[in-house]
Amino acid sequence: MLYNSTRDNNAVVESASAIAHGISVEGGLFVPQSIPSLTNEDFQNLKKLDYVGRAQYVFKNFLTDFTDDELKYCTEGAYKGSFDNDKPAPIKSLDDSLNILELWHGPTCAFKDLALQILPYLLTTSASKVSSGKKTVILVATSGDTGKAALEGFKDVKDTEIMVFYPNDGVSAMQQLQMNTQKGENVHVCAINGNFDDAQSGVKTIFTDNAIKEILAKNNMEFSSANSINWGRLAPQIIYYISAYCDLLDKGEDYLKDGFNVVVPTGNFGNILAAYYAKIMGVPINKLICASNSNNVLTDFISTGTYDRNRSFYTTISPSMDILISSNLERMLYELTGHNDKQVSLWQDSLKNEGKYTVTDEVFEKLKEHFYGGFCSEEKTSETIKETFKKYGYLIDTHTAVAVSVYNDYKANTADNRPVLIASTASPYKFANSVLEAIGETVPADEFDAVKLLSEKTNTVIPSPIADLENAKVRFNNVCDKEDMCKVVLDRLGINH
Ligand SMILES: *Cc1c(COP(=O)(O)O)cnc(C)c1O
Repeated sequence: MLYNSTRDNNAVVESASAIAHGISVEGGLFVPQSIPSLTNEDFQNLKKLDYVGRAQYVFKNFLTDFTDDELKYCTEGAYKGSFDNDKPAPIKSLDDSLNILELWHGPTCAFKDLALQILPYLLTTSASKVSSGKKTVILVATSGDTGKAALEGFKDVKDTEIMVFYPNDGVSAMQQLQMNTQKGENVHVCAINGNFDDAQSGVKTIFTDNAIKEILAKNNMEFSSANSINWGRLAPQIIYYISAYCDLLDKGEDYLKDGFNVVVPTGNFGNILAAYYAKIMGVPINKLICASNSNNVLTDFISTGTYDRNRSFYTTISPSMDILISSNLERMLYELTGHNDKQVSLWQDSLKNEGKYTVTDEVFEKLKEHFYGGFCSEEKTSETIKETFKKYGYLIDTHTAVAVSVYNDYKANTADNRPVLIASTASPYKFANSVLEAIGETVPADEFDAVKLLSEKTNTVIPSPIADLENAKVRFNNVCDKEDMCKVVLDRLGINH
């Protein structure tokens, strides 16, 4: 299996190189040249395996330059012992057709753990193949959850340094505390004055700056990315959709006879893109339902074919979806144009220069065939948390609530009653204040009082990674301007410049 860049079909690399470098030199993202398909026999085999086994089976198709031993080392290291009951992605069925894929049983209580627990293994294994001896510097822009999950995954990993930038006013108090208390000798955290898109474009600029790359090379270091632009982030996400399908097969032969729908609360388009790849591989997914909050740039794109980021940016109670530039959409465009690198480059240029582009009719038709887009207001998000708790006794976080709300609209608009799998992307305890408010409680001033009250009122258990934060020591409290991100990076690495 070889990988192309979305902006240059002549850039052809193996998976180790794609993962070690994160992004292609001209700024494109790495994508497999073809998507492997799984047969019924494959799914029957997969069904018998545990999550680690399923992960190895799927990775073998994508990471063909990894040995079986390497894949075993990576998957066991990531998924044994770091998730509740060694079940990284269990399904909770609320009624006959409503299935929740709980992706928040890892060390940071958000779905990012599924990929970021394994990325350090994939990345160090890749680096040993393609750039031996160099120290890998991981740069991360985060809207809250990636940062903590990446810090947790990479802390004290040999020959790596990790540096996380987050928007100062754009993450929840709990998310900020999670990052600022991070342990480890190789970790660095800095807030920026700006929003997530500023952080993300700042990181991208540093990545593609040749002068900085040379300075790093002279110091025997090289950059890589833990953002979902890295193929090593995306590939692990395909696995939980395949695993979920295997689990749903247990519901009997008839249950999935017309396939099922998948709903994903979406920001950077990574999670839903993984579901699309699972569909192409043979998982019988009907519609991919893309759920957005008030930053509904994707809803508009799916209904009009024009992507236009020239609009107000809203800070919402589902902050991990407060994004106007969904990076992984670039991979989707590359797929839907039949790998047309020139066309994708033009659209990305247009996005950069004018903030928008319009796809061809042909691509628009394909987009609508696979996707349905919807969004939900802040009020509706809160209402959905309250209603879901009342109806099912099941507590969801603000991001999952956006997905449930958009799904309710979808069902009302289409009368499509197929079974559904809703990706639940975070524990409600990560957003305790908003969740408490939604269920009609007064929010206490102290974050941990809020967490305890939520537990009391809903009779649910506080996840230990959140409970343990109460006594954790704050190690970072720096803020910088986005223009200074590069300087911060070099300073922290101890490089004179
Ligand atoms: C990151 C995140 C999302 C958005 O996922 P994308 O892959 O960026 O679309 C949704 N919910 C939560 C809780 C997240 O952390």
